[in-house]
Amino acid sequence: MSTTRDIQSALVPSVNLNLNVRGLAPSATLALNERSAELIAEGRDVIKLGLGQSPFPVPEVVVEALRQNAHQKDYLPVRGLAALRETVAEYHHRKNAVARHGAHVLVGPGSKELMFIIQLVYYGDLCIPTPSWVSYEPQARIIGRRVHWLRTMREHNWGLQPEELEELCRDDPERPRLVILNYPNNPTGYTYGVDKLRALADVARKYRVVMLSDEIYGEVDHEGTHRSIAEFYPEGTIISTGLSKWCGAGGWRLGTFTFPDNLKWLLESMAVVASETFTATSAPIQFAAVRAFAGGAEIEEYLKQSRRVLRALGRYCAQRLRDADIVVGDPDGAFYLFPDFRAFRPQMKEHGITTSAEMCERLLDDVGVATIPGSSFGREPSELTLRLSYVDFDGARALSTAARSSGDLDPSFVAECCPRLRDAVDRMANWASSF
Ligand code: GLU
Repeated sequence: MSTTRDIQSALVPSVNLNLNVRGLAPSATLALNERSAELIAEGRDVIKLGLGQSPFPVPEVVVEALRQNAHQKDYLPVRGLAALRETVAEYHHRKNAVARHGAHVLVGPGSKELMFIIQLVYYGDLCIPTPSWVSYEPQARIIGRRVHWLRTMREHNWGLQPEELEELCRDDPERPRLVILNYPNNPTGYTYGVDKLRALADVARKYRVVMLSDEIYGEVDHEGTHRSIAEFYPEGTIISTGLSKWCGAGGWRLGTFTFPDNLKWLLESMAVVASETFTATSAPIQFAAVRAFAGGAEIEEYLKQSRRVLRALGRYCAQRLRDADIVVGDPDGAFYLFPDFRAFRPQMKEHGITTSAEMCERLLDDVGVATIPGSSFGREPSELTLRLSYVDFDGARALSTAARSSGDLDPSFVAECCPRLRDAVDRMANWASSF
């Protein structure tokens, strides 16, 4: 006769768990955010540079559109609200010079979900540069896809070089591949210039790769000059974007994929999965998103000030770290830096730190600064890199202070509006120097 204990242990999923999920831990960005929150709840002073969440409030016109649509209660079409799909297509026409129609757009509950579904329906290998955002590779592993990491170099600001892509594709030219190119980049803040995009597009076309262009940070290119690879490889590029990063609305969970005509079959396959999983994206959020993607003067002003603030902070933090012999370049966009502490390797080793994970753990324990190890982005565990998100400040206050001035925001702006961030980079620099 089986006892309660037998029945309970039969339910412990040590061997029954999907083999692709075994060995995976919750996403590094989200796990760290929860750990930081626990430490703060215990009374620790933690500066949160872990999660890449926009520090800025959602623009008031978009919040108002959400208020006006709180009553929307019906399920919307699986592919998305027709007006939103149209507006997103016009947005890409206006911003990225690519001709698309509403029929080319798929709306989802965050671009992360759409990235998972495309890997589920597309049979190609996943090809991603190292470093890359923490979730692309685990998604591929969960689904059981092969992953190829494409080598990059610090000298090229960790950007993918056309030669690296060529080398991978040349090996097996007919192999179906999904390449994810993310720029401005998470975790490095780097973005590609037009010549590099053109050269990458040439290789992609030659080997007919499906290019998933993750442009979620496109609007927070610090100069406001973001260009899309879809301009140069229109027939093979899917543009991914959403409200999370440029509209301050990560928690609203809305992302979009915009397909070229000849990849519409992929959209249709994804819509089948969507219909059997998330059904449709939240209705009020979709109505509000129409307002966000329609743009206009208020939103352009909001973006202009967001970029000025991020540009000043990115440069300030990078300079402060460089002054302490930490290797890092100025970012071009987004809100990330990917510094390298290699100069401190011998001293850190004496204190038992030999991996990026150990380094981040000690940084959090010793001086209360939460960051994410380079190994979570596909770097060698022994490389002493980490990602910091320069977002721990009051975004509303920073925007209104920035709006009262023009030109470059100087360090006094950082001291006035972002004291915790200033404190965080001081703590990091002093901590490294203490070894
Ligand atoms: N994309 C953000 C990051 O890299 C947070 C959201 C997420 O990872 O799901 O920190």
